[in-house]
Amino acid sequence: MIEIEKNIWIKHNSKEVDLKVLFNCFKKAEEFYDIKDYSETRIFLVNKKEDLGFLMNKKKEEMSVWMMGRCLPEINMIVAYSPEGIEENTNRQKFVFRGILTYELAHIFYHTRKYKKNLHLLNEGISSYIQNILINKMDLTGKQDIDIDNPEDTDIFQSFSKEIYRRGIFLIKRIVDNLGKDVLFEFLEKTKNLESDDEIRELFKDIILKNLQGDKIQ
Ligand SMILES: [Zn+2]
Repeated sequence: MIEIEKNIWIKHNSKEVDLKVLFNCFKKAEEFYDIKDYSETRIFLVNKKEDLGFLMNKKKEEMSVWMMGRCLPEINMIVAYSPEGIEENTNRQKFVFRGILTYELAHIFYHTRKYKKNLHLLNEGISSYIQNILINKMDLTGKQDIDIDNPEDTDIFQSFSKEIYRRGIFLIKRIVDNLGKDVLFEFLEKTKNLESDDEIRELFKDIILKNLQGDKIQ
């Protein structure tokens, strides 16, 4: 076990893990969530498909080429492939591993914040934004943008689908670029005092969607 920084522990036997680079990626998630001291988080990296399958409670044949890890936010744990594991078992290249770990760490931060609801569009959106925009510097040109006036694109209570990640990245980018991320966290904090989904939906409309109408991604 190596302590990457205070309270973040990693166990791996990879030759490709550069802790300094990894730490700099984690900083981006910490800064985004404005989290300074968080509870002990443990990261396990494995090289073999059956080991990740075991930790994810899946049989080897159930492991798809796009599966790279998961987090268990209730116990602050991340399990994922090492860079070697990614090259060996997935259709991605090994350098993506630091973005994936940061993505999962961001999910843990969402959980740490103890928002009343897990609003998947925002939770997945923030993690994907940090991974793809802040770390991998993904270029969104040519990709299908969301339509702020289309309730399907901006429904914060939508369930998981292939679309949720694309929608989430565009939505978070638009909020960050046009309103600033503090408005996003102000909204999330305020949901703690609301009881019903309808109230949360209304608040999102009021402080986020209304202010984004007419704006386009830059
Ligand atoms: Zn996710």
